[in-house]
Amino acid sequence: MKKNLIRRLHSSLSVPTDDVELIRAQFRAFARQIPLLYFILATNALAVMFTFVKFGHPWLSLYPPSALCLLCLVRGFSWWRIGRTQVPDDIAIRHMQRTNRLAFFIAVAFTAWGLALFAYGDGDAYAKAQIVFFLALTMISCNFCLMHLRSAALNVTLVGVAPFSLFFFFADDGHFRAAAVNLALAAIGMIAILMIYYRDFAHLVASRRSLREKQAETQRLSDENSRLANIDSLTGLPNRRALMTHLDERSGRQAADALPTAVVYIDLDGFKDVNDAYGHATGDRLIDIVAAQLVHVLPRGAMLARVGGDEFAAVISTPDAEHAARAFVSGVLASLAPPIRIGDRAVQIGASVGVCCAEPDGCDAQELFRRADVAMDHVKANGKSGMRVYSPDLDLERQRQQDIEDQLRRALRADELEVVYQPIVDAFENRVVAVEALLRWPRRPEGELSPDQFIPIAERSGLINQLGLFVLRRACEDFLRVEAIKLAVNVSPAQFRDPDFEQGVMRILMQTGFPAMRLELEVTEGYLIDHPQRAAGVISFLKTLGVAVALDDFGAGYTSIAYLLKYGFDRIKLDKSLVDRVTTDKATGVLVAGAIHMANALDMAVTAEGVESEEQAYVLGLAGCQRLQGFLFSRPMSLGAFLASAAAEPVPAAVSAA
Ligand code: C2E
Ligand code: CA
Ligand code: CA
Repeated sequence: MKKNLIRRLHSSLSVPTDDVELIRAQFRAFARQIPLLYFILATNALAVMFTFVKFGHPWLSLYPPSALCLLCLVRGFSWWRIGRTQVPDDIAIRHMQRTNRLAFFIAVAFTAWGLALFAYGDGDAYAKAQIVFFLALTMISCNFCLMHLRSAALNVTLVGVAPFSLFFFFADDGHFRAAAVNLALAAIGMIAILMIYYRDFAHLVASRRSLREKQAETQRLSDENSRLANIDSLTGLPNRRALMTHLDERSGRQAADALPTAVVYIDLDGFKDVNDAYGHATGDRLIDIVAAQLVHVLPRGAMLARVGGDEFAAVISTPDAEHAARAFVSGVLASLAPPIRIGDRAVQIGASVGVCCAEPDGCDAQELFRRADVAMDHVKANGKSGMRVYSPDLDLERQRQQDIEDQLRRALRADELEVVYQPIVDAFENRVVAVEALLRWPRRPEGELSPDQFIPIAERSGLINQLGLFVLRRACEDFLRVEAIKLAVNVSPAQFRDPDFEQGVMRILMQTGFPAMRLELEVTEGYLIDHPQRAAGVISFLKTLGVAVALDDFGAGYTSIAYLLKYGFDRIKLDKSLVDRVTTDKATGVLVAGAIHMANALDMAVTAEGVESEEQAYVLGLAGCQRLQGFLFSRPMSLGAFLASAAAEPVPAAVSAA
């Protein structure tokens, strides 16, 4: 308890050193006031000297005040200089500690001098009263000026007041007793005020500090926020926003310091399948691995960002940006060529890459980015896995496709489309046993387009779902009553992607009343390779309905018969490219004969399409091909034409296998 009190007294009387902030604030306020304090001390001493010098005793009335004044002058000046400079914390503490000590000694000196002089007042009550006034004034002004250095203010007040009050309580027969008590009480009041003021001052400094700390924290959070807003959390790469900002800066530069800039847009091929087949965790892992591989081949100084689910983009700004971009793309394609290991799986993906090199036309970041995207899109639409540099004709092509897409939408509403039928002939019986429904666009105001031109556009835009079902419905309606004839309808791989596809087929069969057993759907192999599980699911569902499924364009791709077995196809359609060479190229002849033989052995029937010559028909029939389709027999024709020709039995004398 006692110890505690002493410690508190000691801390009140010494300069605080633990709070740097408080020390600095104190020092700033204090350094400005202290020259004024010395000025007041000096004028006080001079006033007393002026009165007392006439009583003689220069050792008391002249020399001490002169020395004190000189000391005040020197100290005042040095503080004036200190107050105008930036002082390190430790020096500030040292200055204040020195002042603290000095305040004590100066207070002692002034008090001792004043009290000593009092005796020499020589009965001059005014002169003596001036001493009282001088000491009280000095003490009050010191206390006032030293307010920011509490220790010094307390020192001075205690050292000044205690002897003063004691001395004057008894001096001169108690004439000054009231003044002594007055000053003692006033001093107590001043100490209380000093303590309160100093506490508030320290408080203010502390609250300013906490405000600043809060501000710093807010700033830190906002910095962190903007960092996160510019980072892709999965890969840690910059995101699209960061890339656009970067690109904005690059493309916004003035010609003088502008470097050629290339934008590389990378879209992974086959990522979605990995994601669908193995789940998002594996997909995320794959993205992370790919990001690391891309960073590995990224040219120095370039920026790589993840700009979408499986899309990355790089901005390369170097004097040879296009060259660097091409080298980067080669690196990217090479690094993605081998299968990627994820845990105990190996997945195979590729990349479609578009490159745009900034033109002197100074287009903005958005435009550069768009162009790279257009170039990438072109690669995607033309077989994927590769690179294309943007050129304006890509935009024209894209616009043309966009126009066709819009026209197709209109065509579906405005009844511009038609379905024609190409007869399929039994190779042994020489009669038409089936037809293949083929889409036509005869009433297109801009001029007729072949399905080869507009089907791929419909596939890309998703319109194929509507188109496909339109053909199916129309064909089912048309052939409902032509009972002897089976109906083949093409299904685009893109339609398999529609989860409602099977339901759509079922609905049309129910609504039209067309028997499922008479329907055959032709699919191309592309989708089977890309999405084996979904394809197998759709095919087995269709087969449970009773619908037959044929593999179209067999021989144009890479599908092996063994691979096809697991889908349970009912039929394969030999591609025209094989049929074309079956009579001219011996190897093709052998291959076709083998394929037909094997398919038959596996319970799959074979149709040859694109048969144009009797020789082809003969050879194919000989090899065991059950059905033939081609211009030799008939071109595709309208329902009316088909019915008319069927009535006239127009089927040409087919070349029998015999
Ligand atoms: P595809 O499914 O292979 O259809 C056969 C194509 O070969 C038809 O062309 C047909 O007219 C043509 N063709 C048949 N025999 C001969 C011949 O002896 N010589 C020659 N040079 N050509 C012959 P088309 O009608 O122009 O259709 C082209 C492709 O467009 C079709 O190839 C098919 O992939 C697609 N397509 C047509 N209609 C539809 C449809 O309704 N839906 C879907 N998804 N695709 C369709
Ligand atoms: Ca077909
Ligand atoms: Ca075909």
